Amino acid sequence: MDYQTILLSIKMLSKNEQARLISELLGHSPTSYLSIRRQQFYDKQASCPWCEGKHYYKFGKDKGCQRFKCKSCLRTFTEYTGTWLDGLHKKSHVVEYLELMLEGKSLDKISSKLGINKKTAFDWRHKILSSLGQDKGNEMRGIVESDETFFEESEKGNRSLNRPGRKRGFSTSPDKKRKRGVSSSKATVIATVDRQGGMNLSVATMGRIGKDDIACSIATPLPEKTILCTDGHVSYKGFALDNKLEHVTLRADLKQHVKHGVYHIQNVNSIHNRLKKWIDNTFWGVSTKYLQNYLGWFRLNERLKDSASSLNDFISQTMQDTDTLKRYNYINIAHQWLLTTHK
Ligand SMILES: [Zn+2]
Repeated sequence: MDYQTILLSIKMLSKNEQARLISELLGHSPTSYLSIRRQQFYDKQASCPWCEGKHYYKFGKDKGCQRFKCKSCLRTFTEYTGTWLDGLHKKSHVVEYLELMLEGKSLDKISSKLGINKKTAFDWRHKILSSLGQDKGNEMRGIVESDETFFEESEKGNRSLNRPGRKRGFSTSPDKKRKRGVSSSKATVIATVDRQGGMNLSVATMGRIGKDDIACSIATPLPEKTILCTDGHVSYKGFALDNKLEHVTLRADLKQHVKHGVYHIQNVNSIHNRLKKWIDNTFWGVSTKYLQNYLGWFRLNERLKDSASSLNDFISQTMQDTDTLKRYNYINIAHQWLLTTHK
């Protein structure tokens, strides 16, 4: 094959495949990113996933992985313990899976292409997404915009429906009449962003938000000098007062869209719009139970959209978190808790 033929073939590859090829040629292939933690353990840069101790030694092999034993807590672990790769069979498919996931391919396409069943493809998706963290309040600075948006409660994919069916989004249960305004049958997502790319998207509650929901969603307080921009919602006023924050309110009903040229909530509203379109057009809606994972995925896409090596960045972002399996196993409990917040 001559150079021109090779070049032409390369140009026909997808963007992700091209990025993968470049990585291979440069010697940082996705496979090497997957074993990033092994090297970190060899170099004593990573800590024991159980006690965060730094003193451990090689302790045989576990299904082909290097096992280590911690001198502090005496527990053993491998490079994958706690991460989404922990206990995953068919690891040889992982790179291709991640590639297809990044391309936004459906579970049907992924399962037929890789020869894995759809349930496995679904479980892998949510194991991987369970690794994605959030920006916390204290990591934001300057002008911070915050606003809530709503998603109709959905049990998509849940075959053992234990709640009454729905029509046009309203409960058909006779004891539950349609409420005015914000319905408690909607999952409320709070989005908080700063102007440096900081982003927090959390499923906060069902129905109306209170100031505690806002505080919980960003986990840690916003820095003192933050200028908080929101709509006129009373909970935001309470939240700003509690946290002694300068607060600028923008009331769309009074046509207050921008104040002093810089204070507005247009970034956060644009995120709401893009998020809804992405969820509707890519997945035809998602189950409330897994909504938080999709918020993490959306946030990651926003981060990676200008990256030249999105697959490697994707792997790096998801591999380092050793609380992933805990979070994945907690999805059901988190969902049950959310349903108790129906107001
Ligand atoms: Zn330990």
